Amino acid sequence: MRLVRLIANLGYGSRKQVALMFREGRVTDAGGEVLYADDQVLHAAIRIDGDPLDPPAGLVLMLHKPVGYTCSTKDPGRIVYDLLPPRFRLRSPLLSTVGRLDRDTSGLLLMTDDGQLLHRIVSPKSNLAKVYEATLAQDLRGDEAAVFASGTLMLESEKAPLAPAALELVAPRQARLTLTEGRYHQVRRMFAAVGNHVEALHRRRVGGLELGDLPAGEWTVLGEADVARLF
Ligand code: URA
Repeated sequence: MRLVRLIANLGYGSRKQVALMFREGRVTDAGGEVLYADDQVLHAAIRIDGDPLDPPAGLVLMLHKPVGYTCSTKDPGRIVYDLLPPRFRLRSPLLSTVGRLDRDTSGLLLMTDDGQLLHRIVSPKSNLAKVYEATLAQDLRGDEAAVFASGTLMLESEKAPLAPAALELVAPRQARLTLTEGRYHQVRRMFAAVGNHVEALHRRRVGGLELGDLPAGEWTVLGEADVARLF
């Protein structure tokens, strides 16, 4: 791929704008040598105004989504893309969220421009465990773990019962729930079905990947070894 297209696809500007960046000598190699649009050079060696070029296509990010942000490109309120460099929203292929977390849910959110990987993660066949921590409005009754594990719980307007889910009691109003599906508002609806209400919800793990101590609002680029930990 020619450098102009490569750099334009990363959201730095239109091809015309990127061509101008070349003419202005803003695109260099790591040693500061000016690059030309037809040069053959490794991605990692390219600098724009002295800064390394953003990661190439095949990008996978782990974001610690804070409460109050939606997983949307269009919402008039705050969106998860506001937490990334503005040009990340303009990349081609598009950087999408891998599934969604509600506006009021915090925690581990993956984003990628790799469509195959995205489908592999969200596919019901993948059975990836997602671990949530829920803070509840009322004390747990004690039978919730059995209800969630039964594989018979039907949520309103759903055609099939939920797959068995594992519930651990952490405190009277605090529970850890492991799901292998991702239905709409699933955790909140599950607790509503047993007469409770989720006051706060946080996702801490997807597959074998943990959010760890990544601060809220921060993100990190995942390498191959991290992605492999998902499955
Ligand atoms: N379940 C929910 O209810 N909300 C989320 O954001 C994720 C899972």
